[in-house]
Amino acid sequence: MLFSELGLRAEILRSLSEQGYDTPTPIQQQAIPEVLAGHDLMAAAQTGTGKTAGFTLPMLQLLSTRNSGLSMAKFQTRALILTPTRELAAQVYESVRTYGQHLNLRAAAIYGGVSMVPQTKLLRSGVEIIVATPGRLLDHVAQRNVDLSNIEMVVLDEADRMLDMGFLPDIKKVMKVLPEKRQTLMYSATFSDEIRQLAKQFLNDPRQVAVASANSTADTVAQAVYTVDRNKKRDLLVKLIEDNQWHQVLVFTRTKHGANALAEKLDKGGIRAAAIHGNKSQGARTKALADFKSLKLHVLVATDIAARGIDIDQLPHVVNYELPNVPEDYVHRIGRTGRAGATGEAVSLVCVDEFKLLRDIERLLKRQLEKRMVEGFEPDPNAKPQPIENGRRSQGQGHSFGGGGNRDARPPRQGQSEARKPQGDNRSRGEGRSNAARNAASHGNKPQPNGGGARRSGPPRQGAAGAGRGDGQQRSGGFRQR
Ligand code: AMP
Repeated sequence: MLFSELGLRAEILRSLSEQGYDTPTPIQQQAIPEVLAGHDLMAAAQTGTGKTAGFTLPMLQLLSTRNSGLSMAKFQTRALILTPTRELAAQVYESVRTYGQHLNLRAAAIYGGVSMVPQTKLLRSGVEIIVATPGRLLDHVAQRNVDLSNIEMVVLDEADRMLDMGFLPDIKKVMKVLPEKRQTLMYSATFSDEIRQLAKQFLNDPRQVAVASANSTADTVAQAVYTVDRNKKRDLLVKLIEDNQWHQVLVFTRTKHGANALAEKLDKGGIRAAAIHGNKSQGARTKALADFKSLKLHVLVATDIAARGIDIDQLPHVVNYELPNVPEDYVHRIGRTGRAGATGEAVSLVCVDEFKLLRDIERLLKRQLEKRMVEGFEPDPNAKPQPIENGRRSQGQGHSFGGGGNRDARPPRQGQSEARKPQGDNRSRGEGRSNAARNAASHGNKPQPNGGGARRSGPPRQGAAGAGRGDGQQRSGGFRQR
């Protein structure tokens, strides 16, 4: 199938062909006709599948062809896209601009961490499409900078992530000021119970489309695990980068502090690197991302939430310098490479502390990852696992949350069949609540500030390795980005 067969107007097809895209991805093939037909939609698609164009293209088509019946004296806001993070909002806004460049529609990206003044000016001058994070949008609504009463179409992008981040109250507030009669699209990596609940509330008889299992990783991503001692990870990373001449590597760490330290060390060692995380100003984050895209930086070290929405065409290498606490985050991380069919490589540096996390990831993927060792970096077989450091909560509570990573420290074995039905839930994925709190919520336990794992005798909890990645500002139990 070609884009030209989907009934999109010539101006949109032209933008697509300028991007070199002629064939819709599976999610686009399924979603675009449903949206064009005016249906509400629940789409299960993770990042990297082309989901953004899956809602942007039909939105542009409908807005540009449908007579809004509104005065053209001032552009009225007719479509709203809500995203969980600033980076994703910026990214989606870029897509709207790119695909809509030959149309006469105005768009704005509205997110926190930057001054409200230019946004206010832009909103007051009138824009037809707003891409926003919920908190900042509500600020503008409160200040009457924007009128959402003429919205025809709303998209909840990465809805699962928005729930994880504690945005449900904000989403509800936004939905309240939208007209009842509208088209609503919801994109999510999975259709969890919470997501279905959300759909019930806000969608009207939605069509459902899905691509790939939400917990599957792109086939085009080669994945491998290097087992290595914890204190040799940095040297191994340098070796891999230098020996393989990797020139654009996205490296994930678990903590903001860890991201800073690693980026600094790499940079001092002659590998141009920067860190992005929630404590960096929006300006610094945007610059680091731009430098990374233009290859001025070879390495970008990121925490999970900061990396959300990073979309670089054909990003060749992702490195898990530390495994994520929550297995689903592994899938999100490596989704940064191998996007839309491009090939990519994702490697994880795994020390004895993380064997339990690795096993959880393999269980989720329902397969074993290839294990590799590098000469000179063979792990000490007698190394004892240590509790995993998980950083601090963003508002400076003095204790770090840890534990959990060492409860099950058997080394990973190749070919060992551990295929167990994954629990199929995504409850524990977000930054909004601490992992301890999330686990408590999902297991009926009280949150245990030290993960409690090492002392616990029951079966290991999923994602139990502590809390507080905390890349955001905490507010009433949830992180919000304004
Ligand atoms: P997304 O899942 O929306 O973040 O998109 C992932 C990447 O795929 C982005 O870099 C898009 O520009 C790219 N992309 C989107 N649609 C297509 C397509 N039909 N063919 C090739 N690449 C695409």
